[in-house]
Amino acid sequence: MNGKQNKIDRRDFLKTAGAASIGSVLASARAIAGPNEPNVVDPNAKEKAQEPKLPPVPRRKLGKTGVEVPCLALGFGAAGEPTVLRKALEWGINHWDTSLVAAGGNSEISIGEFISKNPKVRKDLFIVTKESDSKTAADLEKCLQKSLEKMHTTYVDLYMGVYRMSEPEQLTDEVKKWAENAKKRKLIRLFGFSTHKNVDRCLSAAAKLGWIDAVQMTCNFRTIRDANMQAAIEACHKAGIGLIAMKTQAKMTDSDEDKKLTEHFLKRGFTEGQAKIKAVLEDERISTACVAMQNVALLTTNVAAVLDKTKLSQTDVTFLDTYAQASCSGYCAGCAYICDEALTEAPYVSDIMRYLMYYNSYGQQERAKELFATIPSEARGRLLSMDYSIAEARCPQHMPIGKLVNEAVSKLA
Ligand code: SF4
Repeated sequence: MNGKQNKIDRRDFLKTAGAASIGSVLASARAIAGPNEPNVVDPNAKEKAQEPKLPPVPRRKLGKTGVEVPCLALGFGAAGEPTVLRKALEWGINHWDTSLVAAGGNSEISIGEFISKNPKVRKDLFIVTKESDSKTAADLEKCLQKSLEKMHTTYVDLYMGVYRMSEPEQLTDEVKKWAENAKKRKLIRLFGFSTHKNVDRCLSAAAKLGWIDAVQMTCNFRTIRDANMQAAIEACHKAGIGLIAMKTQAKMTDSDEDKKLTEHFLKRGFTEGQAKIKAVLEDERISTACVAMQNVALLTTNVAAVLDKTKLSQTDVTFLDTYAQASCSGYCAGCAYICDEALTEAPYVSDIMRYLMYYNSYGQQERAKELFATIPSEARGRLLSMDYSIAEARCPQHMPIGKLVNEAVSKLA
């Protein structure tokens, strides 16, 4: 294939993947077709035989674990549709990320149903799950056993035993001993944690411990170039900890800034979402971007982004930076130690901002309400009477915290 043809195919592939049907995407991908046979019973096998095949998604090392994962991981924001799971596997996306409580507990159940129907596929999967705010070894054991039962499996590949970690102190000796013991019993292969809050601090602490295999953290075009985040990523990379980026999209609303960003990337041949995945994966220290993909169209769009080898240009990066600055007051970066110091009686502001994002931007209204309800009722009762001015003055994102807390209470309470 000559260079000109290659360029046309890439643009066509990305644009159609971002905006149109799977049929046209696959047709555009014909030039880069390659073999990739999954070990799955597929009821649509006849129809599929007519489709050209995509090459598998590129793989990267997960720290020093000895495991390679696809650079795009399948997040289960909802229960997984069998068609999506089959198609993900077909494209080499065997890293499936769920949690005990995701989709009201149905996400793990959907994985279990898939494994029951396709038992041979279990050995090919890299299943990551998380517990539900456990504190003790007994809690961890109980949650893990529930996850194993729901997913019809005898082991989890990577267990995020500390879910939504916000303070390094949560990584106690008790947790360490439990993780070591669970590995010996072959219930888990690897152990780590997930974090949305005080991410750089949690990563930096993990790098010093020597018993954390991998971390799943909020990481996107808004946060990845922050100096503290860069230092934390480098410390984990040097320590051999696998880094899994989540919340890569960090989209707020359909503002004028969003429209400008969308238009810029469409002219370049990308969707905005594809560009945001590239912005994270261009850092080779990140093993994979974990993205919730509920349908084949979204899966196809994101696969197109990671198969395409074009790097973001300096202009693309500047567009993303400009957008991040223009829309910063709508995005909470999770640096809770800053606002918590100013609001000792309401150390939930960053959580509330995240729940509001789930409600406003992710279309996850029920999940947002359920999470808001986990804040102790006494603290919820104080929210509307507090003075947020000091926290607002210190917030690096210049968020109108008081106004947003009001909005959250009206929508989520
Ligand atoms: S509200 Fe501001 S200071 Fe608090 S966590 Fe979010 S971005 Fe950081």
